Amino acid sequence: MNWRNRSLFYVLLLMALGSHLLTIGASAAGWAALTLNYVAYPHLAYWRARRARDQRLAEMHNMDADIVMAGAWIASLGAPLWISFILCASGCINMVVFHGARGGLRLMLSLAVGMALAALVVPLAWQPETDLRTSVLCMIALLLYLFAFARDGYDRAMSQSQANSRLRKQYDEIQSLQAQLREQALRDPLTGLFNRRQLDATLGPAMQLCREQGACLSVLIVDIDHFKRINDTHGHAAGDAVLQSFAQLLLRHMRPQDMAYRIGGEEFLLVLGGTPLDTAVERAHMLREAVEVLRVRTGSGELSVTLSCGAAAFPLHAQEPQDLLDCADQALYEAKKGGRNRVVTHPGPVPLQPALSASE
Ligand code: GH3
Ligand code: MG
Ligand code: MG
Repeated sequence: MNWRNRSLFYVLLLMALGSHLLTIGASAAGWAALTLNYVAYPHLAYWRARRARDQRLAEMHNMDADIVMAGAWIASLGAPLWISFILCASGCINMVVFHGARGGLRLMLSLAVGMALAALVVPLAWQPETDLRTSVLCMIALLLYLFAFARDGYDRAMSQSQANSRLRKQYDEIQSLQAQLREQALRDPLTGLFNRRQLDATLGPAMQLCREQGACLSVLIVDIDHFKRINDTHGHAAGDAVLQSFAQLLLRHMRPQDMAYRIGGEEFLLVLGGTPLDTAVERAHMLREAVEVLRVRTGSGELSVTLSCGAAAFPLHAQEPQDLLDCADQALYEAKKGGRNRVVTHPGPVPLQPALSASE
């Protein structure tokens, strides 16, 4: 219980007990004990708990002492019913809040200790009645005590629920940042296409799936021709704009089963899952033609580019991811050597297909 509630309750108890002492015509010693117990002691106990190293433990000891004293009052006054009831009820609430169900046992022990101590000092007599005024004061004290206690519980529950929703929000933000970071680690920032790392992670599994399903898989390595000239003539920013438009065009030409990666400066890879070589080559030609007519708006006017493409297929040319990429790379080399702006398939076990260019 906090200081405010504790002080309030002690004042209420002081009034109830004072009313009873007045009714029974208590001695000066009784009034002195009441003043000490309900005026001086609460502040002393609270001050001691605040200074303690373990405040929670000190507060528990204070509660034990409170209940021992309550037991002494109950016994020495002859167990007046309403007073006994509020002392036991408030002690019970405090004990159970701090100790759980075991608190009930502790309450009884402390009350018994208090009663035994009182029995050593004063003769015990059974006087259960309390007059109307005292009874009403006891009821008011208990009601206000329960009100303060419940309000504290409500405040705690509200701040707990606000802290929970703050934590939930932070957790969601962290989750979404992590997802963004994971996604960014797999993508090339300039074009938004998947990067080489993601290719290394996905090509093997894609080939394995095709192996299990008895399906083909083709790869197309696509390289922009004379790209360096664009940078040299029109600047790096114009080169970037070309790369971005080129990547957008790749994406527009992809089917759901295709994946596009930027694997080098102006080098891209398309993985065509479940696609035989001839279909892949057809698609490569469509792409080459689309790039030929692409016009990229840059700060230094409209630019156009062409591409060279090397094609290879699983299981026709290679069984392993790196071997397949090497085959496509060799075909790309042939395309460059053959004059660029063309699609070449790796010769592999089949005869080399003639290089097809715009002019053919
Ligand atoms: P080839 O036809 O033989 O492929 O010639 P190329 O000029 O396209 O190839 P090369 O490898 O000589 O030049 C590639 C250039 O791409 C060199 C490099 O400065 C440029 N490059 C690489 N990454 C980027 C990038 O992110 N932005 C820009 N603007 N240029 C890049
Ligand atoms: Mg190039
Ligand atoms: Mg290159």
